[in-house]
Amino acid sequence: MSAIMPTYGRTDIEFVRGEGVFLYADDGTPFLDFGSGIAVNALGHAHPRLVEALASQAQRLWHTSNLYRIPNQEKLAQQLVDLSFADLVFFNNSGAEAVECSVKVARKFHHHHGSERYRIITFEGAFHGRSLAMISAGKQPKHLEGFGPEVDGFDQVPFGDRDATRAAIGDLTAGILIEPIQGEGGINVVPDGFLEFLRELCDEMGLLLILDEVQSGMGRTGKLFAYQWTDIEPDIMALAKGLGGGFPAGACLATKDAAAGMIAGSHGSTFGGNPLAMAVGSAVLDVMSEDGFLERVQLSANRLSQGLAMLKDRFPEVIDDIKGRGLMVGLKCVCPNTELISAALEENLLTAIAGDNVVRLLPPLISEEADIVDALGRLERACAAVRDGARAAEARQSS
Ligand SMILES: *Cc1c(COP(=O)(O)O)cnc(C)c1O
Repeated sequence: MSAIMPTYGRTDIEFVRGEGVFLYADDGTPFLDFGSGIAVNALGHAHPRLVEALASQAQRLWHTSNLYRIPNQEKLAQQLVDLSFADLVFFNNSGAEAVECSVKVARKFHHHHGSERYRIITFEGAFHGRSLAMISAGKQPKHLEGFGPEVDGFDQVPFGDRDATRAAIGDLTAGILIEPIQGEGGINVVPDGFLEFLRELCDEMGLLLILDEVQSGMGRTGKLFAYQWTDIEPDIMALAKGLGGGFPAGACLATKDAAAGMIAGSHGSTFGGNPLAMAVGSAVLDVMSEDGFLERVQLSANRLSQGLAMLKDRFPEVIDDIKGRGLMVGLKCVCPNTELISAALEENLLTAIAGDNVVRLLPPLISEEADIVDALGRLERACAAVRDGARAAEARQSS
């Protein structure tokens, strides 16, 4: 028994090494990693450019505090600003912190303009992290249980429901917070036109639009940020997961207007924007902004989606629906999702669980066609095993 608080139901495998799209267990067995540590290892494992960035920074300087200028931080902030809608960045250490910072920026914006507005509208099925405020934003009963009272200030409406969203706006509403694609909730893509609707609604009502792109951002959908598939831009956006490629890093991006209240002393983080994290994050963005990188993600995504459509046709007893965009894919299962995850694990293929009975595929963005084909072969055998198991169980019942 370990001394770790048992908050996770862990699979009994120990990985000791990773290289590219593969993880290696302590007995040397290779596993094809289509979970990427939950969308974190965007460039796979031990990417030479990230190893070099981390190692060379580690030899020079680890930490100074935000009381001094941190050149890597200024560099990564400028890269993010150049590649997005934003003018300003605050660095965090995790997704929960990045989204919570985004909510603080929105509240402070209204305060700065002499308004009392503080409430944020969120959506059913949302996941924004596990701090007290963020479990109150997500409102998942299983995350809130025993941690009450809820932090006040979040109003929730059904995902994609225009009328309910409009109706939820009150005198104290400050902004709307949404994942363009819900990750933990089951890879639910916002309905067509919904982000555009929210943008107009926010403009009309004087609210800030906050996107949680902690999972959908950093190239995951085949654009650097999922909102870039639309014509709209948010006022504030949270990033984490893929940002550090496996080194803990988060960021809250905002326009100059939205960040108007974030003056000296208003927010802080001891570790946020640490030189090591910033060196790696900057290298991640260098790689992702090279010519052809995102196009290759889109090609791999197309190959994956073709293969999955065929699997769905072949195994209707196992796969009910395929959801998602780019390399952020959900297989909605007919069987319990845990059965397909276990069967995939038997094929040494790593996936990730999600809500709505979904199995998530979040391959490293460096996956090539051969890796996608490899994964599809393993998934096909896993689907066959689940189907055959279900048929055998049925036969036993009817005999
Ligand atoms: C993972 C995730 C978070 C929380 O990130 P942590 O680093 O675990 O705090 C927040 N929002 C979304 C959309 C996520 O997928």
